[in-house]
Amino acid sequence: MIQDARIIAGFTGAGISTESGIPDFRSPGSPWMSNKPIPFDLFRQSAEARREAWRRKFVMDDIYSGARPSRGHLGFAALVASGCMPAVITQNIDGLHQESGLAEEQVIELHGNGTYAHCLACGRRHELDWVRRHFEASGDPPECVACGGILKSATISFGQAMPEGPMRRAQKLAASCDLFLVAGSSLVVYPAAAFPAFAKENGAQLVIVNREPTPLDEAADLVIHAEIGSVFSVFF
Ligand code: NAD
Repeated sequence: MIQDARIIAGFTGAGISTESGIPDFRSPGSPWMSNKPIPFDLFRQSAEARREAWRRKFVMDDIYSGARPSRGHLGFAALVASGCMPAVITQNIDGLHQESGLAEEQVIELHGNGTYAHCLACGRRHELDWVRRHFEASGDPPECVACGGILKSATISFGQAMPEGPMRRAQKLAASCDLFLVAGSSLVVYPAAAFPAFAKENGAQLVIVNREPTPLDEAADLVIHAEIGSVFSVFF
């Protein structure tokens, strides 16, 4: 199917990073479920909520920030390098597709990126080392150096609008591909999970690689219930 395809859209979820040591969202024991999420509006309205969000963020970063790309990331990087896959649409926020060698424009991040912060008012990027030093020294949630606006990890929180540019690019790729290749997603988080079904409705073949069944398995042309690392090792 890969050899016959003209344009392949890649689509990944948290399952591609478990081999890198980052737990996925829904598997048993997930650390991401242990705290109630802080919704976007609360983050904006309450300095206390922002303080708690940054505290949690740095606890998680201490555990997971040394993660390296998995065999799945390397497999997708090889497919992109071969010229058949213009970009990988990802729900992940860990930046590991870029670490595996993909350029910024080859990764479409639907839920943002947790490896840096940005200002909610002017958009200016701030590096996490600086944010952390400021936070630990003052105990206060950090503010933008340019405009004094609220700084937030550059991820999409519950209740926050999806990013327009990445949504548009993902839509375009899903509409134009003839093969849509999913790896490591439970396909239950919307609107991200709508892209595979949309591609299929537009005539693409749909392939899903995941340990467990997903709600789209029945619609897919090929489902491989296996470890992503072993499946994607064939590509590099
Ligand atoms: P999910 O946790 O809902 O589903 C992951 C799926 O991957 C599961 O069905 C699981 O069985 C499968 N899986 C896990 N490891 C696998 C492996 N090695 N081989 C094959 N299958 C494997 O993840 P989702 O669908 O991406 O939705 C979760 C949300 O949480 C996303 O929005 C994402 O932004 C966020 N999240 C991101 C990260 C990250 O950036 N690494 C980590 C956790 C959560």
